Amino acid sequence: MKLTGKVAIVTGAASGMGKSIALLFASEGAKVVVSDLNVENASKVVEEIQANGGTALAVAANVAKEEDVQNLVDSTVAEYGTLDILVNNAGIMDNFVPAGDLTDELWDRVFAVNTTGPMRTIRKSLPIFLEKEGGVIVNIASAGGLNGSRAGAAYTAAKHAVVGLTKNVGFQYAVKNIRCNAIAPGAVATNIATSINAPNEFGMGRAMVGMGINPRTGTPEEIAKVALFLASDDSSFVNGTVVTADAGWTAY
Ligand code: NAD
Repeated sequence: MKLTGKVAIVTGAASGMGKSIALLFASEGAKVVVSDLNVENASKVVEEIQANGGTALAVAANVAKEEDVQNLVDSTVAEYGTLDILVNNAGIMDNFVPAGDLTDELWDRVFAVNTTGPMRTIRKSLPIFLEKEGGVIVNIASAGGLNGSRAGAAYTAAKHAVVGLTKNVGFQYAVKNIRCNAIAPGAVATNIATSINAPNEFGMGRAMVGMGINPRTGTPEEIAKVALFLASDDSSFVNGTVVTADAGWTAY
């Protein structure tokens, strides 16, 4: 087992990649805090982990709310005494809205969840990592964090910001035995399409131009395996970088 005794928070863990990461980490011996907006579904993930003999706790948290982030980390420490691994997975799409059609509301909402959320969970976790002189952060960025038109302008800019945050934190805290890496998944079969409710015709059309060269859609379990690598000591020399997991889509 690769995470025996480790305490891990996974945000957005009620569905998709977050759920797969929570299940895999628990099966590798971690005590997992399954956090999500949707606490009912998060509780179902906890039940599944417990049924498999693992240890987990559900905590309701909207990562866009500072008080929820505070409560998430405080509840983790209250229950398990510490924190070793933070996985910033919660994220939403932006209806493929191009810059010309962007509203401030959409921009702010996408940044609040996809970028400010990870910044706040990192900010809240760092004092714990600094005190124990160790910690690992895994951010779920996106192929849209490295490339220009996998989504709309807000999602693309927000995920590029996550990549920048990952590199900054990874470098600055490297001397404190804290690692911070990101995963840039390509298209993965999850429930994220439910956050696309009114796709922008022009923006989606421009984003879809590249879909023809996508070798295939991935599974959440394939992303979870990359997250396990980055969260475990197997990746002890990997820091401040982005691992692309997209079957080669963005290599073209
Ligand atoms: P998903 O919709 O299946 O799961 C996302 C989970 O996040 C849901 O349970 C949802 O309730 C939760 N969530 C949404 N907003 C939240 C908030 N404000 N606070 C807390 N939880 C919140 O989607 P997924 O595809 O598994 O997405 C996980 C991550 O992967 C996201 O950051 C997404 O941007 C990224 N990603 C997805 C794809 C893809 O093709 N699915 C590709 C690249 C990157």
